[in-house]
Amino acid sequence: MSTAIKAIGVIGAGQMGNGIAHVSALAGYEVFIHDLAEERVRKGLATIGGNLARQVHSGRITEEDRKAALARVKPAFGVDALGDCDLVIEAATEDEATKRKIFAGVCPALKPEAMLATNTSSISITRLASASDRPERFIGIHFMNPVPVMQLVELIRGIATGDETFEAAKAYVVALGKTSTVSEDFPGFIVNRILLPMINEAIYVLYEGVGSVDAIDTAMKLGANHPMGPLQLADFIGLDTCLSIMQVLYEGLADSKYRPCPLLVKYVEAGWLGRKTNRGFYDYRGEHPVPTR
Ligand code: NAD
Repeated sequence: MSTAIKAIGVIGAGQMGNGIAHVSALAGYEVFIHDLAEERVRKGLATIGGNLARQVHSGRITEEDRKAALARVKPAFGVDALGDCDLVIEAATEDEATKRKIFAGVCPALKPEAMLATNTSSISITRLASASDRPERFIGIHFMNPVPVMQLVELIRGIATGDETFEAAKAYVVALGKTSTVSEDFPGFIVNRILLPMINEAIYVLYEGVGSVDAIDTAMKLGANHPMGPLQLADFIGLDTCLSIMQVLYEGLADSKYRPCPLLVKYVEAGWLGRKTNRGFYDYRGEHPVPTR
């Protein structure tokens, strides 16, 4: 555990928020998890419990580890419950207005020395930091999905991020047993600047009728040795998140090559967001995923 950080707050109890809470608790931090509604916090806690149990089954952690980690994660129904945290990580919906509102709302509840981080996939850290009262103690800590499995964490400094904040974030990643890379504060950072245009192109390939969902995913799995096909991966990330990232790339880099595919827009408008809503490029309601096109 890094010396400066003992208690961690997580805002957003969705797939990323509960993953961040999970790995932080396993590493020995006290964790407080917050979301818009009590029932979402409870759902997040239940998911963490289920995922920890799965890790016990597969022999990756012991039953004692599971119990100790679970006991360290506590619900925070209001932002005031984050008052003792040394680091608060925002992992709410990928929408700048939502995130800005969260920072404005949470700052008055925090200790003056507390650090604030965002898990945004693409939005400018400098711009998000300006919505807080502590840009020098604000940083991008970008985890990959699923958090308990993926080794990488991208660290992104905003223009005002202080050295102490950067070093503390680096030490936190080491304490989690993960590896950090550093990216400059440009749209999509490194991973999503490269990954999302590939996914968007796969959706164009589908849209233009070059191949079916199955043909595209099989082609990239067997032809490029990717562990998951790009459409399967898009469903896994969440199609709303994919669209938001493409919009940030398109607007932030002002280049038409990042234009979100109209078919991606249509799926999001339909509320077919991928795994989290049980339907996206695949339908997950049956025993096996079935392509939707
Ligand atoms: P998600 O939809 O699973 O969860 C988002 C959660 O944020 C929801 O539970 C929602 O209720 C909550 N939320 C929304 N507004 C809120 C508010 N005002 N206060 C508190 N909670 C609020 O999304 P996710 O996939 O967990 O993504 C969360 C963040 O992590 C996004 O910024 C996303 O870009 C980033 N991210 C996602 C992935 C991925 O693969 N999905 C990977 C890395 C980073």
